[in-house]
Amino acid sequence: MYRKNAWKKYEDKAPVMDFAEDYKEFISFGKTERLVVKESVELLEKAGFKDGNKATSIKAGDKLYFINKNKNIAAFIIGRKPLSEGLRILGAHIDSPRLDLKEHPIYENTDFALGDTHYYGGVKKYQWVTIPLALHGVVVKKDGSKVDVNIGEDPSDPVVGITDLLIHLSADQLQKTAAKVIEGEDLDISLGSIPLNDEEKEPVKRNVLAILKDKYGIDEEDLISAEIEVTPAGKARDYGLDRSMVAGYGHDDRVCAYTSLKALLDVDDLEYTGVCILVDKEEIGSVGATGAQSLFFENVVAKLAKLSGEADALYAVRGIFEASRMLSSDVSAGYDPLYASVNDPKNAAYFGQGLVFNKYTGSRGKSGSNDANPEYYAWVRRTMDEAGVHWQNAELGRVDQGGGGTIAYILGNYNMNVIDAGIAVHNMHAPMEIVSKVDVYEAYLGYKTFLTAKD
Ligand code: MN
Ligand code: MN
Repeated sequence: MYRKNAWKKYEDKAPVMDFAEDYKEFISFGKTERLVVKESVELLEKAGFKDGNKATSIKAGDKLYFINKNKNIAAFIIGRKPLSEGLRILGAHIDSPRLDLKEHPIYENTDFALGDTHYYGGVKKYQWVTIPLALHGVVVKKDGSKVDVNIGEDPSDPVVGITDLLIHLSADQLQKTAAKVIEGEDLDISLGSIPLNDEEKEPVKRNVLAILKDKYGIDEEDLISAEIEVTPAGKARDYGLDRSMVAGYGHDDRVCAYTSLKALLDVDDLEYTGVCILVDKEEIGSVGATGAQSLFFENVVAKLAKLSGEADALYAVRGIFEASRMLSSDVSAGYDPLYASVNDPKNAAYFGQGLVFNKYTGSRGKSGSNDANPEYYAWVRRTMDEAGVHWQNAELGRVDQGGGGTIAYILGNYNMNVIDAGIAVHNMHAPMEIVSKVDVYEAYLGYKTFLTAKD
């Protein structure tokens, strides 16, 4: 169903609304890539998936998952056809823009203890001040023991935040461009203001460190080997008087991650081996050990090839990938009537019109995009239409307005058929992003259709 409002399909809106309840819970908990991996494993194990590293053979119907450094995960349902006939891969990223604590973050200035950050991914810095923020992550001590940090989500917890200048004294600040109105080095969080009652230096900072020592058993130096992410505090909420949308942090791209994962959890008895891969580091170029460019996925598929009896598993991976199809899912820029001019309305993603396909993304002449083959796109269209899934097409804004990339080209490099897919979002990369519940549901249906399509 191309470019039709999907709400009209649902006389009874309960399936759409109920799905969104579970999704809200998922993103309310999953504020970091580590937390998303954690809750994904819980869902996978509940559905009968097993740790793939313990498998000694594979057969059709087996359900396996592989975790990479707690920030990247791949889950498989082995199909009836041999791996050499290709995989059906759903991919999405689970990192989101945020602020990371620096290695040596805490300092004191005029009776305030502050935490210094370096932002992660593309942010409009002015959006991150004067809102409640939470701290999430891990501190790994020298002895290797790991401490989970979570401050600001429980209603009884304190929150932290970043100050902005009062309007009364902002005459100079308001002359600056929006890119400069809040400087990156000024994104420092307020951590405390009570001094210890002694004559030593930095009494407020030492008090904050004492609280961390008391609560987590960590010293200042332990923060060097830590990953503490500063994220918006609080749960995802219904948005709009009709509750048609979800307001939350990190829809980009946990909305595609959740719908992809849920699709794999809810299918069975597959012809082609079904895969859901959730990657880290997309917002900074898909780099490193846990990003889409990592060899992790290749290694895992080689492992499966070996378990299925391939003598030369690494070579077999080449063939498996060439025969595979992928929906590389990431959020699309939802058409916003308040900012209509940045779009080509014929090729924009609209709330309510379902799963979005992008033949290409990129910027300045499609640079950096995967640019899906029309032969593959035709199969995708037919498959979605036959299943009655609502879908639409979009590109990322008007030509030369800006642009952006996804992980699609990385898997495309294996000579795999890949197309960008996803869900329209408003306020992309802001602390509060918005999606339509019916788009979330149609995406889930579309992903299930992709996994189960017979040809
Ligand atoms: Mn994204
Ligand atoms: Mn993004």
